[in-house]
Amino acid sequence: MIVVIKSGTPETEVSRIGDELSTWGLSPEKIVGKHKVVIGLVGETASLNPEQIQEISPWIESVLRVEQPFKRASLDYRHGEYTEVVVPTPNGDVIFGNNSPIVVVAGPCSVENEEMIVETAKRVKASGAKFLRGGAYKPRTSPYAFQGHGESALGLLAAARDASGLGIITEVMDTADLDVLAQVADVVQVGARNMQNFALLKKVGAQSKPVLLKRGMSATITEWLMAAEYILAAGNPNVILCERGIRGFDREYARNVLDLAVLPVLRQLTHLPIMIDPSHGTGKSDYVPAMAKAAIAAGTDSLMIEVHPNPAKALSDGPQSLTPDKFASVMDELSVFGKAVGRWEQPEAILA
Ligand code: PEP
Ligand code: MN
Repeated sequence: MIVVIKSGTPETEVSRIGDELSTWGLSPEKIVGKHKVVIGLVGETASLNPEQIQEISPWIESVLRVEQPFKRASLDYRHGEYTEVVVPTPNGDVIFGNNSPIVVVAGPCSVENEEMIVETAKRVKASGAKFLRGGAYKPRTSPYAFQGHGESALGLLAAARDASGLGIITEVMDTADLDVLAQVADVVQVGARNMQNFALLKKVGAQSKPVLLKRGMSATITEWLMAAEYILAAGNPNVILCERGIRGFDREYARNVLDLAVLPVLRQLTHLPIMIDPSHGTGKSDYVPAMAKAAIAAGTDSLMIEVHPNPAKALSDGPQSLTPDKFASVMDELSVFGKAVGRWEQPEAILA
């Protein structure tokens, strides 16, 4: 349920309304948007009478029920205002969402050694990426496949961050690694296979770094938003949703079915920013540029693209990785689409 406060309401009155609701045994959450202040009420609200709440103050504009099972993640909970997730990086704050310039995240599937990660960071930065991605802990189908270099790879990501000024996005698989990982990561990634690892969701929700929540490969949109709700409910408001393809019946050519319909669907359901990952979404580097362009046209806030200096030799996901040269030319192509939707940072700003 949300209590919408009238514009111009004195701060003391907003607090008084919150205090009054607390005496009813509720936990009011004040949400300050650009246009409105809203008080969110989550919990046992089914028996509450909206008219009774309305009577608390003449400054209350309306009292509305959030009908969906996800509450804090819903667009209604923010009264229709889209969230901006602001991530500080050495190169300055990067904003995801709410119509800000499209943020491109690029880098290898796995961090393999210092030279490759530093080199990739510099190259993708020169092409306009704002974040470096790279796995230290890899969720592999086979226990015999390369599992990532673990904690030592976090040190290499830190070196790449220092060398490039890019923000770092890397995946956490185990609650035990979260503290050390969050010292290096500017955004903590929860991968598709852990989307419903509720212990992990609660833990990333209880720390302060923004979270990138990938969609499980067989997850419905509601399940995905409920997973986001776990993070929000644990106190972390900075969640970015990443579509990375779902399982279809035909894996002969593309690894997954990249569900671009999530863009218009999620825009109606949630205020959270959206990222599209055409690399895992298709599994093949040849298919990445077309799906990245489509994602921009359909309104994505961000893209995740795998880039490796030598895809043929990559320890994971080589077939879907672009070379740095190819990434540079793809970024040129994407800029046309990004400008067409009014969401591409101008080159002057990139150089600055
Ligand atoms: C990844 O980003 O490298 C990854 C493993 O992605 P996903 O969880 O989407 O498979
Ligand atoms: Mn990968």
